[in-house]
Amino acid sequence: MAEILVLVDHADGAVRKPTLELLTLARRLGEPAAVFLGKGAEGATETLGRYGAQKVYVVDAPEVDEYLVAPAVDALAQIAGGGEPGAILVASSNDGREIAARVAVRLESGLITDAVDVEAGPEGPVTEQSVFAATYQVKAHVTKGTPIITVKPNAATPEEAPATPAVEAVTVDFTTAATGTKVVSRAPREKSDRPELTEADIVVSGGRGVNGAENFHVIESVADALGAAVGASRAAVDAGWYPHSHQVGQTGTQVSPQLYVAVGISGAIQHRAGMQTSKTIVAINKDEDAPIFDLVDYGVVGDLFKVMPQLEAEINKRK
Ligand code: FAD
Repeated sequence: MAEILVLVDHADGAVRKPTLELLTLARRLGEPAAVFLGKGAEGATETLGRYGAQKVYVVDAPEVDEYLVAPAVDALAQIAGGGEPGAILVASSNDGREIAARVAVRLESGLITDAVDVEAGPEGPVTEQSVFAATYQVKAHVTKGTPIITVKPNAATPEEAPATPAVEAVTVDFTTAATGTKVVSRAPREKSDRPELTEADIVVSGGRGVNGAENFHVIESVADALGAAVGASRAAVDAGWYPHSHQVGQTGTQVSPQLYVAVGISGAIQHRAGMQTSKTIVAINKDEDAPIFDLVDYGVVGDLFKVMPQLEAEINKRK
């Protein structure tokens, strides 16, 4: 069976959920082999094995922290070039898409981004993408080289399949990384007990209808009751009501949670681009003709300042 390379997304060795999803999908295609860059592989190997990694390639080199995406490109291209992987899977994030695109150029391979599902097919992995505000589902497969696929977070539910992975330390020639961008400093984003936007199972987002930074607690309270991440429309972000790192949409973060709750958001195409692949969509809007209602599974026509406190009380009552 061909190896399916999975680029591990981690924070100091703590493996992020999208990687577990990729390992779950990789098992449909072949033998998952994780590519771990940086420090903390010892702790991560057990987790990677639990989700089916048969092998863990470890690249522990200072360059990984010194440069942006270039070391990951060098590492993936070198490891892929040393064998004949059946596919390379990378989580869809800004970095992930850039890494995947660069590896595709390096390997002269075809690239598919933002897949929401991947299955084995007669001519290699077949992906599904959701396009044009979820108007079309597109199935595609790569016709040249090693299929390189970025997969949106929450495309699959992580399933355990315990394995004891072989660990192989890899020495990578980082010559191209040295010509790239050097990291000068890193500062952690604001600390929060809430889940990260891209990883959250539930996202509650507020828009212009929230009408001020001082009202965003209405969104946060329901988010906390649900254990959800908080998102915002660009209108809310541009008005300075919520940080840009929480913006959902074409020019913000793309999310695909199990449940997306849009509150006081009209449903502009650029907002939809960031949340249309959510499994269940709920909207609360006082305008029954708001375009968001064309997209939703459940819609509440009403004033968010009346609906949200009731929703919070109801959620807390059922806990
Ligand atoms: P509005 O469109 O003003 O909608 C507010 C909604 O709140 C209305 O439907 C209203 O009925 C409702 N409302 C008001 N008061 C209440 C109340 N009390 N109770 C209930 N409902 C209420 N937008 C993004 O979100 N993300 C992006 O990444 C993004 N990228 C963009 C990129 C480009 C190049 C461009 C041109 C635009 C982009 N936009 C993006 C902006 C987008 O076009 C919209 O302007 C924006 O999404 C609107 O945000 P909104 O829905 O919060 O505001």
